[in-house]
Amino acid sequence: MTVIVAGGGIAGMTMALTCHQLELPVIVHESVKTIEPLGVGINLQPNAVRELFELGLERDLAEIGIQAKEWALVGKNGNDVWSEPRGLDAGYRWPQYSVHRGHLQMMLYRQVLKRLGPKAVISDSRLKSYNNDNDHVLAHFVDSDGKEQKVEGSILVGADGLHSSVRAQMHPNDGPPKWGGAVMWRGTTQAKPIRTGASFVLLGKLEQRFVCYPISQPDPITGKAIINWIAELTYDTSKEWGHSDWNTQVPVEKFINHFSDWSYEWLDVPQLIREASAVYEYPMVDRDPLTTWVDGRCVLVGDAAHVMYPVGSNGASQAIVDTRVLGSAFVKHGLDQTALLHYESLNLKEMNELVLRNRGAGPIGILGIVEERCGGVFDKIEDVIPRSEIEQYMSNYKAAAGFAIETLNNAPPTIST
Ligand SMILES: Cc1cc2nc3c(=O)[nH]c(=O)nc-3n(C[C@H](O)[C@H](O)[C@H](O)COP(=O)(O)OP(=O)(O)OC[C@H]3O[C@@H](n4cnc5c(N)ncnc54)[C@H](O)[C@@H]3O)c2cc1C
Repeated sequence: MTVIVAGGGIAGMTMALTCHQLELPVIVHESVKTIEPLGVGINLQPNAVRELFELGLERDLAEIGIQAKEWALVGKNGNDVWSEPRGLDAGYRWPQYSVHRGHLQMMLYRQVLKRLGPKAVISDSRLKSYNNDNDHVLAHFVDSDGKEQKVEGSILVGADGLHSSVRAQMHPNDGPPKWGGAVMWRGTTQAKPIRTGASFVLLGKLEQRFVCYPISQPDPITGKAIINWIAELTYDTSKEWGHSDWNTQVPVEKFINHFSDWSYEWLDVPQLIREASAVYEYPMVDRDPLTTWVDGRCVLVGDAAHVMYPVGSNGASQAIVDTRVLGSAFVKHGLDQTALLHYESLNLKEMNELVLRNRGAGPIGILGIVEERCGGVFDKIEDVIPRSEIEQYMSNYKAAAGFAIETLNNAPPTIST
């Protein structure tokens, strides 16, 4: 019997490719009518890249993304707080990739269609509810005209993201996503990459910061690449933000005044913002950790299971890893609840801790320590915080997020085929 996947985002498409690799019948139901390359830049950590390579996507990834070389925190004064090599340069066996989220989703989608055939993805099919039975699950889908369809399968995988219907039925008291006060404005602009040419740079302080990194190779003639950027401000949480949607477009006038004097010799923030092709607003939301991701033959993966603040490049990375761990559980236990509980036992505790760690700013928390100690004003960072303290902070974060270098490099493949 079939694995039914609700949601054709990063997790849903990777789940389909994993099932295909394991020769398990699978079908993806995606709520939107037309799957389009939405979103802006994301990072894939080496633990996720390893899984995509295992799916034979090494060349495809290289075509749509750029290998990250550096991760840097810079104070508002323009002085470095911390910088470290990333990916292969850091000694990982797999690179870290910076990619456009939409291009990643479309690449995975194309691979699903190529490997599984055109009937493997049904669009305009939104999961409404499900019913568990002893030996199967019945999933109810509805299209935009209100036409309903009931589909029977062995397993229902809820890969339906931030506003997951599967999660809502599994945990009816979960409520809406929680907003912690930060708002992100995200965009992409054609500009020359800075520093190594493939650096992730976070500039500013905890409450007001700017992130930028390239997500394409530079044009050989102009030297310009697509630069992904995020401008972020923290507000009083007594104010409601009104939406929690990834795709709300806004004019730059809504926030650019907060960054109007952020010009440096090496980076002109207002210019990057002003020249963006489009700007999207996203209030940084998450959800409280769950006690279980399993209900009968139904299981949550990716954001549906553990949506978290996008501060440590874990959202898409962990969505990919989840589906691979679930695939390995299918290999071990077959398509039944034992497999789902096995997957949960391997991932739930760590992911719940990571959700809370990211709520506390994740790796960017170092900036909070710097502010506490010197109000963010420093000449030499060593006078404020010893290198060894930052090193420890960063390695704790990588361990919690599943990409500690030695552990990952020495780990056996998640799925042995
Ligand atoms: C339009 C969009 C833009 C995004 N842009 C960014 C970005 O710029 N930066 C960033 O860091 N993250 C972005 N994200 C979130 C990011 O993709 C996820 O955090 C991460 O990749 C985890 O992937 P996921 O597959 O669990 O969730 P998602 O990638 O969100 O995928 C969930 C999928 O499920 C579908 N869906 C929702 N409800 C149902 C239902 N009831 N039935 C069937 N299908 C359903 C959605 O249409 C979507 O395709 C975006 C997500 C979306 C949907």
